[in-house]
Amino acid sequence: MLGDQETIAAISTAKGIGALSIVRISGSQTPEILKKSFVSGATTTVWESHRAHYGFWCDPQSKNKLDEVLMLYFSPGKGFTGEEAAEIICHGGIEVTSQVLSAVLSAGARLARPGEFTYRAVMNNKMDLAQAESVLEIIQARTPQAAALALKNIQGALSEKLSAFEKEIIFLLANLEASIDFTTEDIQPVKYSEMMKRLIPVIENVENLLKTYLPSRVTKFGLRTVLAGKPNGGKSSLLNALLGASRSIVDENPGTTRDTIEAEANLAGQFFCFVDTAGLRSATTKVEGHGVVRAYDEIKSADIIVYVVDGAQGLSNQDVEEIKKLEINRTLICFNKSDLNSNAIGALSLFGLENYNAIVSSAIAAQGIESLVNALLKLAQERSFGGEVDGAISTQRQKEGLEKTLLSLNEAKTSLAKDLSPDLISFSLREALSAIENTLGKNVSEDVMDRVFKEFCIGK
Ligand code: GDP
Repeated sequence: MLGDQETIAAISTAKGIGALSIVRISGSQTPEILKKSFVSGATTTVWESHRAHYGFWCDPQSKNKLDEVLMLYFSPGKGFTGEEAAEIICHGGIEVTSQVLSAVLSAGARLARPGEFTYRAVMNNKMDLAQAESVLEIIQARTPQAAALALKNIQGALSEKLSAFEKEIIFLLANLEASIDFTTEDIQPVKYSEMMKRLIPVIENVENLLKTYLPSRVTKFGLRTVLAGKPNGGKSSLLNALLGASRSIVDENPGTTRDTIEAEANLAGQFFCFVDTAGLRSATTKVEGHGVVRAYDEIKSADIIVYVVDGAQGLSNQDVEEIKKLEINRTLICFNKSDLNSNAIGALSLFGLENYNAIVSSAIAAQGIESLVNALLKLAQERSFGGEVDGAISTQRQKEGLEKTLLSLNEAKTSLAKDLSPDLISFSLREALSAIENTLGKNVSEDVMDRVFKEFCIGK
């Protein structure tokens, strides 16, 4: 990245008024900046690493004191970034913090780009890319489970698994290539059956790791639960009942919810992200039309769909048509407005839909909401979205990296099974190696790095 040699600085704490703020500095100019701006009672300017040093932060030119601070110093190779670095803990006012930062900048640093400290940590091998992604995740975590998952991955739980795959692939390649290189000499070529024995468990382990994506995504973002159905069935009212608050607009005129509305809720320890959608019908306006398209998109990608039927009207042909498109294991049919008609559910068997999970509710009378929650929890459990996800993959990038690895490993497996030439197998294994190394962040393009770090805030 351009400017990698420069010394960077930024405020690492959230903007706002607090007791303390932290201004971070990283790069080889750190000691110069400290000499110019940090005044303490100490006679030395050679700071001990990992120690808090008490003093004042001053304007580098006028030497006016700006704040009373604690300065943490990290010698080269020791801190978060792997570079010589310092963290200035100053008072948490907006004005005083920005004065300290300005002084650091005028003493020779430049403002860091988003995620640049973590980027440098990766470039200096303090962590790999998968760990860097977990740094972002622990900052963004909104549930204890998501924070725990991210912490484990910062500590290397996922990287260990990825590195183990890398090692195995290298071993297979080395054996195979040794036998290619020395075929003219009197060296025993590697037995394909032996290679197969070693390759199969790698493939299985990659497959298992890929399976952790869904639970870890749910841990991070909640179980995406879409409320769908014809207009006016009571989707918005049910969402509000579930949340215990008026989040979604309720109106007696059909077609009120035009865009999707998202709301998060923790129900009995399960983290849900509810999505209220536009009613499914031929839209009367262009805006509503967009809403209906979005609703179908949401249905497609939902973890769970709550299909709301207007119980007062009963199950219509359109309802039946829509429900038939939904997979049973991720659908719950909710016959709402049971205060007006509690028998509508009986119609399910008339249309061969009796195998679907279904409940009866009245959003208005606050009846059946508990059954709705219980049915949702049961569905969540059946789909095993919960549970421990130790060392799980958690980003789309990691998932794609593993999918590529798996594809190439399977190609190698097919070639081995068909007794094809070692060159061909070696090619597939090299592809797999490159994919797994990319997942760890080795030899990735600047473009990929940019994409990962643009998600970060400045100061991280
Ligand atoms: P949506 O279009 O599916 O989101 O439906 P809304 O939640 O906006 O509700 C449409 C209309 O039905 C509103 O007038 C609600 O007050 C009413 N409604 C919603 N749930 C119930 C219910 O359980 N019983 C009765 N009687 N009316 C309801």
